[in-house]
Amino acid sequence: MNVRDSEVIAGLLLKSGYVIVSEPTQADIIIFNTCSVRQHAEDKVWSEIGRIAKKFTVHSPRSIVRRLSTIDRKPIIGLVGCMGQNYKEAVFERSPAIDFVVGPSDIAKIPEIIDKLSAVSSQSSVNNLFEHKIWETDSKIRPEEIYHTGCYEDKEHAYVVISEGCSNYCSYCVVPYVRGELHNRDYQDIIKEIELAIARGLTKITLLGQNVNAYKSQAKSIQPSVDFVKLLQLVNGIEGIQEFSFITSHPRDTTAELFKAMAELDKLTKYLHLPVQSGSNKILERMNRGYTREYYLELVDKYRKIVKDSVLTTDIIVGFPGEDEKDFQGTFNLVKDIRFDSAFIFKYSPRPHTQASSFIDDVSKEDKEKRHALVLNLQKSISLEKKKCVK
Ligand code: SF4
Repeated sequence: MNVRDSEVIAGLLLKSGYVIVSEPTQADIIIFNTCSVRQHAEDKVWSEIGRIAKKFTVHSPRSIVRRLSTIDRKPIIGLVGCMGQNYKEAVFERSPAIDFVVGPSDIAKIPEIIDKLSAVSSQSSVNNLFEHKIWETDSKIRPEEIYHTGCYEDKEHAYVVISEGCSNYCSYCVVPYVRGELHNRDYQDIIKEIELAIARGLTKITLLGQNVNAYKSQAKSIQPSVDFVKLLQLVNGIEGIQEFSFITSHPRDTTAELFKAMAELDKLTKYLHLPVQSGSNKILERMNRGYTREYYLELVDKYRKIVKDSVLTTDIIVGFPGEDEKDFQGTFNLVKDIRFDSAFIFKYSPRPHTQASSFIDDVSKEDKEKRHALVLNLQKSISLEKKKCVK
């Protein structure tokens, strides 16, 4: 999702007359598009901002003076995306080098903000913009136009957002708090965006959303609503498209109808990313995932029976609060039984605002690491075996 957001921001700035440079040292504006899903991702952003800010002498939170030895003017620095929404104006205290903060729903305002800051910067004798910090984190929904600048990083492949935000409120997840409630784009706008991408020579599409299976769009004209399966059928019918896929699916909203569509639609890849998160019913309930281990196993069984030669990947969190050895064994055995093609395995870390952040983080660091290594090694050997079988 963030990759596409970065393209959208780049598209808006290009349209406003800015150009992209290859080195940060050549830039007048540096934008960090950030993710808050894990602590580790945030830590990396703070450290990178710190590295860039070191090029300037920071006397106090109220005084930033450029140091001429490295580059001759401090670039305007923006923190954009989920971390912006998460920390809002507190960002300026943590990192005085940052000039503006924008949440994910406000990215359309970035060119205007930069114009304002550039005007202040050009009038300033010292490059101190602290009094002119700007933050925008209030909008709920993005304007549709931002998706139609035609800016895609890849020459063949385009990410196309079909829905923003999420209303599932899994207890560990910060997404509903930083990206807002689920908002579906109109299917006609999605089709229009894909057709524009195809017209520019891109032939592969990935439909994006936090929970694509919950997609439902009411057309602007008097037409029946379009659900996710219907959307897949429409996309499959677009002339010029060679291949398309979707990500991410929530097990609770994943149906046999979707599997039938996957089996039938010739341009749709037979790939499903279906995050299970845990193999313990106790933990799944504490995570507020809305399904059980048994339900998940049955769903996978249906998927593999209906969609032949299919690929299945997943996400797993180990060390969630309350996870004991028996719960962990449930996850380990589930991975062994299902034999995913690959899996993203994470150690739990509490995220601000979430329900789970009020739970006691009672699995020790050592146990989290041990469990992480055990599932990771198991999955590695399964992935390797499956790759050999394919050859
Ligand atoms: S489905 Fe759950 S984990 Fe996924 S984005 Fe929504 S709240 Fe987060």
